[in-house]
Amino acid sequence: MSMIFRRALASVSTKSVEPKVVDVLIVGGGPAGLTLSAALKNSRITRDLNIQLVEGFKLDGVKSFYEETPELLTNRVSSLTPQSVEFLQRIGAWKFIRQERVQPYDGMVVTEGLSDARLSFDHPEIATMCENVNLQSSLYQRIKELESQTAEGEAFGLDIKDDTKVTSITKDESNDWPIVHLSNGESIKTRLLVGADGFNSPVRKFSGIESRGWFYNRFGTVATVKLEYAPFVSCAWQRFLPTGPIALLPMPDDNATMVWSTTPELSELLTKVEPELFVSLANAAFLLNNVDMEYYYQCLRKDETEGLVDDIQWRIDHMTQKFTEEELDEKFPVKIISVQDKSRARFPLRLSHADTYVADRIALVGDAAHTTHPLAGQGLNMGQGDVQALVNALEQGITRGLDIGNLLVLEPFWADRYPENNLLLGVVDKLHKLYACTSEPIVALRSFGLNAVNQLTLLKDFMIGHVSGK
Ligand SMILES: Cc1cc2nc3c(=O)[nH]c(=O)nc-3n(C[C@H](O)[C@H](O)[C@H](O)COP(=O)(O)OP(=O)(O)OC[C@H]3O[C@@H](n4cnc5c(N)ncnc54)[C@H](O)[C@@H]3O)c2cc1C
Repeated sequence: MSMIFRRALASVSTKSVEPKVVDVLIVGGGPAGLTLSAALKNSRITRDLNIQLVEGFKLDGVKSFYEETPELLTNRVSSLTPQSVEFLQRIGAWKFIRQERVQPYDGMVVTEGLSDARLSFDHPEIATMCENVNLQSSLYQRIKELESQTAEGEAFGLDIKDDTKVTSITKDESNDWPIVHLSNGESIKTRLLVGADGFNSPVRKFSGIESRGWFYNRFGTVATVKLEYAPFVSCAWQRFLPTGPIALLPMPDDNATMVWSTTPELSELLTKVEPELFVSLANAAFLLNNVDMEYYYQCLRKDETEGLVDDIQWRIDHMTQKFTEEELDEKFPVKIISVQDKSRARFPLRLSHADTYVADRIALVGDAAHTTHPLAGQGLNMGQGDVQALVNALEQGITRGLDIGNLLVLEPFWADRYPENNLLLGVVDKLHKLYACTSEPIVALRSFGLNAVNQLTLLKDFMIGHVSGK
């Protein structure tokens, strides 16, 4: 048989196979997609929906994490607001979180890289650091638990297909339902198609929904690090440098995770330099002034790094000798002593916001709908808020006997989420821009602002309420 004939036969046979039909097809098994799956199956009202989740990558690490928790921490870690934790508790997933791998924190210190201005918050459990895989695993375990509770003879109605990509999406000509074509040759027709498929969202592209925004011309370099000792008070540190903020966030014991937002060129150098030099530079970024940091960046660019570790140590010793031990503990994070092998990676940082989160038979949640700079640790939390709102809207639609793909059902979801997300995206964007500015009057003004806010307990309590979503 000729090659062309065989191909033609194959295409005829795929076309003639009727697609499987489901109520909800979720594209993406990231935090948003798995949360939506667990939440829909947990709800008394939506649990009978027939749901399909499709994820392009293998979920092996997610599936095995709970039973065979790896020793080393992973480098994708998020700060969860109490509101997100409360939602995960409500849908029954939080009990499957490996608690020995999460770290709630009770304080936050924000400092200014071009002056000594600082703002500190103390509040029990402002937020909780959690590896993304730990979160995804808890949701997967909850789904398994719900499946095990299905009455005998009844179908569970949730199938997870991983290692399977969505290759294209078309519309059924007879009733306009989306038909999703998969890399394994299967097609699935769905009443409601949910894009939980991240920034490049194929679902958003198919729906024709515009997304606006920009690349910050910054990358976030992440790393898992060891501290000299476990901090006495669990605290998040963030210092705003002109190239972008560096954050050191607590993990259990003497572990911590870092996000260093900086230029594309520097972030690449930071992921490649020798581990010892990376550690020195990270410590320097929390302690030394910007002139010193600029000098070190130049050395990196010219690949003149010999003797740099000693030079940094000398400057740090010189700078810190004026402080007592207690002052050092209060003003600066615990010293980083090593970086975990292969934990350094970098991610492009963007602002993006879809014009709407819904279209006929389509809904977008999580990064498919919006992405933000990680300086406020809100991206994943916003996705959790989207999922809650979408489940609420679907519950109401079902209760009223409506078709869940209908815009009448979906619109309350986006009306609920869009303004809140838009506000947060705007605030984070302005903060990024304000702190990227090196003009002296602006530095003086923002330093004054930071110090002034630091004196106002009531205002700080109000801000904590907003940051933690309480
Ligand atoms: C450096 C950094 C630090 C961050 N820190 C925080 C923080 O502290 N707190 C916080 O709240 N947020 C944080 N975020 C943001 C957070 O990581 C994201 O908002 C979150 O991971 C988005 O989850 P999601 O499920 O919406 O999308 P994703 O995690 O992007 O998941 C989308 C999924 O869809 C799948 N997919 C895509 N296309 C297809 C296809 N064609 N077929 C099948 N599957 C497909 C992908 O494989 C992926 O698994 C941070 C982000 C960065 C970069």
